[in-house]
Amino acid sequence: MSKIEKSWRPQTALVHGGTLRSEFGETSEAIYLTQGFVYDTAEAAEARFKGETQGFVYSRYANPTVDMFERRMCALEGAEEARAAGSGMAAVAMALLCSLKAGDHVIAARAMFGSCRWIIETLMPRYGIESTLVDGTDIANWEKAVRPNTKLFFLESPTNPTLEVIDIAAVAKIARAIDARLVVDNVFATPLQQKPLELGAHVVVYSATKHIDGQGRCLGGVVLSDKKWIDENLHDYFRHTGPSLSPFNAWTLLKGLETLPVRVKQQTESAARLADFLAEHKSIARLIYPGRPDHPQADLIKRQMRGGSTLICLDVEGGKAEAFRFVNGLKIVKISNNLGDAKSLITHPATTTHKNLTDEARAELGIGAGTLRLSVGLEDVDDLLEDLDAALRAA
Ligand SMILES: *Cc1c(COP(=O)(O)O)cnc(C)c1O
Repeated sequence: MSKIEKSWRPQTALVHGGTLRSEFGETSEAIYLTQGFVYDTAEAAEARFKGETQGFVYSRYANPTVDMFERRMCALEGAEEARAAGSGMAAVAMALLCSLKAGDHVIAARAMFGSCRWIIETLMPRYGIESTLVDGTDIANWEKAVRPNTKLFFLESPTNPTLEVIDIAAVAKIARAIDARLVVDNVFATPLQQKPLELGAHVVVYSATKHIDGQGRCLGGVVLSDKKWIDENLHDYFRHTGPSLSPFNAWTLLKGLETLPVRVKQQTESAARLADFLAEHKSIARLIYPGRPDHPQADLIKRQMRGGSTLICLDVEGGKAEAFRFVNGLKIVKISNNLGDAKSLITHPATTTHKNLTDEARAELGIGAGTLRLSVGLEDVDDLLEDLDAALRAA
């Protein structure tokens, strides 16, 4: 990153950061759909492979369009280095596995994205990596779970779907005291509303599939950290296991980044308005929205986040039947387990995203039969409000 790029504010960095222009001077970023690269001479190839000259050698390692996406994400996050992956889960998997070995111990907040939980609870034990899942909202639980072999902490905040918030700075402090690493899955907060690296985390991961694309087009993921951690832990793992992002998807995500601030701002404003409306509605039994003063962790949210959320968690009065009637009655809001999209999307976690958990595990996470997660999109907020109101009345 040049000195000029470093001084840019997020909205400028997201339009111009990391741009590589070819000899044609194109305005929009070029899509380098190429697997490999050619060299003028055998000597030039030798020098490139030795690292004596800068340049690309193979798109599994690096590609100019993917590079632009990684640079732009670094500019936004304030990170030194990034590696983009083909999906959010590829990013999470590599961030967790690249720095762990048999005999290590991981502590994770139990409220996490289902596939992240599978990696920690099911996959890692096969390779001799132990874990403890804790209620991450109580900092004492993290401290109590520490063992002599604890090497990594993992959390998501706000959590899916109940939008609980975990004190990132406090967990980072515990991790640093024992020379362990804290990895934060920052998808729900977006890179604009929360800065885990500034709060003391070592590594941030994103599913770029969500707000970063934001228009439901492609999968993507990214891991960001300091250069030393990426060089020592991720670099070789990434090259030799091949979770690389397609240049076409990198281009789509670059275009998503240009409009990320305007979209997140609008979606957050609309979500806040809808949350206020739903909180007062007689058919709603519980409403959780980071940004409302009645959120159980409103003080922490004020300290840790720069704005509210684009997501709302709500419980309709009754149970599954009432929740289904409400969801089925919606005309504009679509039924989908995705989030962060221009289209408003609603999902019933107990029967979709969290169906693999036991009733007990769901209860621990606060997911009931009537719980719904609403991702607020870019439609006119009054249309959304009328849609929700009509469906609630009908239910
Ligand atoms: C969607 C999501 C993931 C996984 O991302 P994909 O791009 O679907 O692989 C991981 N963590 C969180 C919090 C998510 O919302």
